[in-house]
Amino acid sequence: MTNERYEELSLNEDLKLTEEEIKEGWLFCCDWDYMLIKKGSPEFQCCPCHNNKEL
Ligand SMILES: [Zn+2]
Repeated sequence: MTNERYEELSLNEDLKLTEEEIKEGWLFCCDWDYMLIKKGSPEFQCCPCHNNKEL
């Protein structure tokens, strides 16, 4: 994902992740005000809502 795309998604609540981006592991963390994070990142490791789903 490019920085431009990341900012675009962060700034526009109406935008959805593409299938491609979801496959890459991107997701919005509901715990952190829907911040955009990627699976495997330090932020993701600290995200209880998604870790519960993954396990
Ligand atoms: Zn989360």
